[in-house]
Amino acid sequence: MTFEQVIESNITDVKARIKRAAEKSGRSAEDILLVAVTKTIPVNTIELAIRKKVNHLGENRVQELVEKYDILKERCNWHFIGRLQTNKVKYIVDKVSMVHSVDRLNLAQEIQKRAKASGRVLDILIQVNISGEDTKAGISPENLVPFLKRVANFPNIKVKGLMTIAPYACDPEDIRWIFRGLKNISIDIGRENIDNIDMRYLSMGMSNDFEVAIEEGANIVRIGSSIFGERHYPKG
Ligand SMILES: *Cc1c(COP(=O)(O)O)cnc(C)c1O
Repeated sequence: MTFEQVIESNITDVKARIKRAAEKSGRSAEDILLVAVTKTIPVNTIELAIRKKVNHLGENRVQELVEKYDILKERCNWHFIGRLQTNKVKYIVDKVSMVHSVDRLNLAQEIQKRAKASGRVLDILIQVNISGEDTKAGISPENLVPFLKRVANFPNIKVKGLMTIAPYACDPEDIRWIFRGLKNISIDIGRENIDNIDMRYLSMGMSNDFEVAIEEGANIVRIGSSIFGERHYPKG
């Protein structure tokens, strides 16, 4: 198989697995948005995925997103999924369709300021730390509602749901509770009917665990290595 055929067959395989998991939870493949995580992946490889109609891309570093955006522009939808420094919001605010990783008030304030300056309303997800691990970013479940009530007042931000990153588990069954936990929190918040707060999206599930995440209600999955292969980070 050529490299192009490998990527194509990976995409076909991932889409089939998404469909199966969606159907298992009473939904269809169209209900699940596939965000291809393209960190470290070169543009010419990304173009193979775009040709297969995978046109939502996830990046976790601002500089890398900006460099790739300069080439691919509006040929795809850009999702920012990594830890976002407030002083870098200005570089991506006019480029991304969604920020998945908002987890603190000063970041939301900066997004509000920059989105207003570029005359747009930016869709965001709030990152929640369900597992309670210190190493994971995200707001704790206890602090989520007060936080949402603050963000709800920002006119240039639209909260569209929640995101979480589960710790790696050899057996994804061991982290099913995390996905179920985020789903339950989103249901609770939906019931609070907070103005300007929408719980439409749950961004959870990566290569190792996306089927379990979908079974528990994910409707955005962020998948890198199952599409592009193992990542090779530059040395140094
Ligand atoms: C890298 C990354 C992913 C994708 O990870 P894979 O295991 O390669 O699918 C998903 N979400 C976030 C936030 C990431 O940083």
